[in-house]
Amino acid sequence: VKVFVPCDSAALAAGANEVAAALLNECARRGLAIDLVRNGSRGLFWLEPLVEVGTALGRVAYGPVTPEDVVSLLDAGLLDGGEHALRHGITEQIPFLALQERLTFRRMGITDPLSLADYEAHDGWQGLKRAVGMGSADLLHEVTHSGLRGRGGAAFPAGIKWKTVAGLQAAQKYVVCNADEGDSGTYSDRMTLEGDPFMLIEGMAIAAMTVGATEGYIYIRSEYPHAVATMTRAIALATEAGFLGDRVLGSEHIFHLHVRKAAGSYVCGEETAMLESLEGKRGIVRAKPPLPAIEGLFGLPTVINNVITFASVPVILARGAQFYRDYGMGRSHGTLPFQLAGNVKQGGLVEKAFGLTLRELLYGFGGGTRSGRPIKAVQVGGPLGAYVPESQWDVPLDYEAYAAIGAVLGHGGIVVHDDTADMAGLARYAMEFCAIESCGKCTPCRIGSTRGVEVIDRIAGGANREQQVILLRDLCETMVGGSLCAMGSMTPLPVLSALDHYPEDFGLTAADHQ
Ligand code: SF4
Repeated sequence: VKVFVPCDSAALAAGANEVAAALLNECARRGLAIDLVRNGSRGLFWLEPLVEVGTALGRVAYGPVTPEDVVSLLDAGLLDGGEHALRHGITEQIPFLALQERLTFRRMGITDPLSLADYEAHDGWQGLKRAVGMGSADLLHEVTHSGLRGRGGAAFPAGIKWKTVAGLQAAQKYVVCNADEGDSGTYSDRMTLEGDPFMLIEGMAIAAMTVGATEGYIYIRSEYPHAVATMTRAIALATEAGFLGDRVLGSEHIFHLHVRKAAGSYVCGEETAMLESLEGKRGIVRAKPPLPAIEGLFGLPTVINNVITFASVPVILARGAQFYRDYGMGRSHGTLPFQLAGNVKQGGLVEKAFGLTLRELLYGFGGGTRSGRPIKAVQVGGPLGAYVPESQWDVPLDYEAYAAIGAVLGHGGIVVHDDTADMAGLARYAMEFCAIESCGKCTPCRIGSTRGVEVIDRIAGGANREQQVILLRDLCETMVGGSLCAMGSMTPLPVLSALDHYPEDFGLTAADHQ
């Protein structure tokens, strides 16, 4: 009997290793033979550790399981998918999962992340195998036609970036994966690195073939030790099996891939600061131009994309650009793995085509707040994303529709707050975060953020409130216009959205606010 206990960090944090050990011990004591597989997580985090059992009808899910539950689960016939208070039926039929459109995450939680046989048996390497027989121009056409845009937050069309690098002559080109996932409430990169690492390798190898790069780096945040270990092992296995190295799949293509542990700084997720860090220097943002596509790592042409961007490429090549393009709306093609976090009852990963609404995510998938209180504000797109009030929860999750309301989708992180949230406190936190994480290169960000904390404190204090609000708006305008990167120019988004949508939390009446 196959029993699955995830090895994903979220499951480990909830006690998955202890559950796995208890299962092995108790089964050995009872003389029951089990084949324990350490899979990735399905992304249903409120049910972790989620134990699954393979049955003739499909995998049956139990969770959240503690080591103390193991005896009663086995008594109830766990290995036959027996009834128990923790049983949730066939995993695939759990509504949270059944209602998703998993393209990139279709293998997530199903396979053993480090099993090449498992990956191959679940459509792995199909994209790379097709890519090997295609020329650069055809590959570029495929990626461009799919409509894939950068999933790290900037949403820049991947095909255009790749075309720039492909069109340059250079002795060396690079492909760099930005896995410095530092946005609050996000974990889709981590899940990919830990739960389906060969998919990222496949996507990066296709990118390398397309642009003529022979060396690649994955810059993984230092707070992700499991991801670093899994990715390092996966690269060794893929190289041994001929999917990387001097002859990729027996072809003339060369691609060597390396893992680099990041420096533990939020701003190193900004692509040029990441390049500085990769080159062994302090992570300070570079002025653009030159674009990294033209003068990137060590001054050479470089494709930089986020984990999910590269991870979306294999399915595009395997199923065709049109297949991917048909998902989504407007100019937002394909799917985005939304990550539900914060005060939410059912936190976890929801991969859906662009165009669904926040309300559907919050209630249809998330089930409302964990505290049971009403939802007050939702921060979409990480710590530099706007707070979205209820009046905007029916706006479709689409890059352009969100830009039109002064918000961003970013990397798909969604952090929920109930009605006890103090929005002035959260605005202050945004400025404080900027002050701590600023690389220090430009004044509006380095000093403006500290002044921002002080102004918000004065507003909260109540003296001269209206004047201080004018000052805060002026400061935000300076930060937007005078900052070199998103850290300084986007911090005003959470600050001003909190002020505009929740003036009462700043001690203002609606009339003051006008
Ligand atoms: Fe550095 Fe802030 Fe300027 Fe970005 S905006 S370059 S983080 S000082």
